[in-house]
Amino acid sequence: MTHHTGRGGRHIELECIHCHTRVPLDKNISGCPECGEVILEARYEFEVDITQWTAELKHRRINLWRYHEVLPIYDQTNIVSLGEGGTPLIKSRTLAANLGLKHLYIKDERQGPTGSFKDRQATVAISALKEMGVDELVVASTGNVAIAYAAYCARAGIKLWAFFPSMTPNEKMREAALYGAEVIKITGTYDQTKELAARFARQKGIFLDRGIKSVAAIEAMKTMAYEIAEQLGNEFEGGKRWRSPDWFLQAVSGGMGPIGVGKGFRELYDVGLVDKMPALGMIQASGCAPMVEAFRRGQRIATPNDNPQTFITTLATGNPGRAYELLYDYVEAHGGYFIDATDEETFNAIRVLARTDGISVEPAVGTAFAGLFKMVQQGIIKPDDVVVVNCSGHTLPVETTILGQQWQRTFDLSKRLKTPVMPEEGLLSALQHVDKVRRIVIIEDNLDAARLIERILRAHSNVEVQIATNGAEGLNLIYQFEPDMVITDLMMPDVDGFTIINNMKADPKLTQIPIVVVTAKELTAKERKQLNEQVDMLLQKGSALDDTLVENLVHKLN
Ligand SMILES: *Cc1c(COP(=O)(O)O)cnc(C)c1O
Ligand SMILES: [Zn+2]
Repeated sequence: MTHHTGRGGRHIELECIHCHTRVPLDKNISGCPECGEVILEARYEFEVDITQWTAELKHRRINLWRYHEVLPIYDQTNIVSLGEGGTPLIKSRTLAANLGLKHLYIKDERQGPTGSFKDRQATVAISALKEMGVDELVVASTGNVAIAYAAYCARAGIKLWAFFPSMTPNEKMREAALYGAEVIKITGTYDQTKELAARFARQKGIFLDRGIKSVAAIEAMKTMAYEIAEQLGNEFEGGKRWRSPDWFLQAVSGGMGPIGVGKGFRELYDVGLVDKMPALGMIQASGCAPMVEAFRRGQRIATPNDNPQTFITTLATGNPGRAYELLYDYVEAHGGYFIDATDEETFNAIRVLARTDGISVEPAVGTAFAGLFKMVQQGIIKPDDVVVVNCSGHTLPVETTILGQQWQRTFDLSKRLKTPVMPEEGLLSALQHVDKVRRIVIIEDNLDAARLIERILRAHSNVEVQIATNGAEGLNLIYQFEPDMVITDLMMPDVDGFTIINNMKADPKLTQIPIVVVTAKELTAKERKQLNEQVDMLLQKGSALDDTLVENLVHKLN
């Protein structure tokens, strides 16, 4: 937004990010007429008093269009809206504490009308196209853009042809179809799908939203910067000023999110609403990480990946094109980092986020959080940094691919109940069984290790945990509580694990209690034999407590 006097009303132009040629906003622009650059940025010229504008904002509805002065629409009656934007900025407690971060915020873009931050792009793009009189449109997408476009096109009465690469989850294609889009599945990569969609559009003379798409995407994504600055202002400055975070993190594919957010903070900085530019943290899937690879080599141009190898379809853009250069330049100027995360790290992060902060996300967001974990571990992100992570999409359409098979407990009442009783009663008693609190005694001289085991068990099962940090205290707890399970270390001063086990096996009241041994000790053959006879499970200390292991542990309780 520039201060520009002497002109009434508002004027919108597109500026080439490469040679800075300016052209009027028009649907037929597919790139810079001078140099062919595909990324154009919107520029707004109008008279504005910033103090007055921010004061006025306080009375506007909390949604994306509250910032309509800086969005590429002339006439507000053309806005196609489903109430997008204005998503909460959720302060993380448990996850933040586990990571040792003081100010971790989650921008909850799952709460958009179709469940991802592509709703922002869709509302801006479809409104702009409606204003320009477009009534049929082709889009290529790995899922979320097409779903969002399909919903907004339905509202605007625009016919949509949605091209998907075949690896897109069926649930996502089906959702686009539900909104009335023509769904076309291409057996090939995302980049090939884009090419085919473009050819199809040319052949049929249908509008392909290429140029406008990048304008709409950038302008739409920048509203996240406006919202975050306003929300952090409320959090840190009592609403008196706006504020930038130290970091904005996002999983990237095409890169429009961080480019838009970067532009947003730039605009806010230029008019003095914020006093710093945030660093950008961009995370890619290891199997498709052309930006990360180029960044590691210190290169400003990325080498496309022609054969992405990741289950995270949303992040499968093999050729980032000019977007990477923009992001690279941003990082050079204002700081930031590119890092990758494997699919395994991603799925693990999804579970961690769900279990700590109660937020269930789509795989791409897991990648963002897996990247956050690494950046914290590597000291790139500091404990005092104010960090905002774009929680860019909801898990709902793809939930089946995240949890695998073992996610529900089934009670077959027909087998369990020998005498016919009211089904409700049977169900109730079955549920009581699930809810029964299990008592566990953990004996472990390292309190942190004990707490870790406690946390994991609590996340999986209804348990009451008693912790002893030495063997004698542990034995006391066992006699006192007669727990449902004992988890013990072997090597402890005075009363060690072997003594505890022997005592339990000698007492008829305690001999049936399952025992799990967690040890760092190299066991002799004799010790191993003895333990194999006496204990139910032997865990090597320091080995990651993965899901199968935890499942086995919990299984021993039932
Ligand atoms: C599109 C998308 C991304 C990647 O966004 P870009 O900024 O275009 O790279 C990440 N997460 C989700 C859920 C998305 O839909
Ligand atoms: Zn140009």
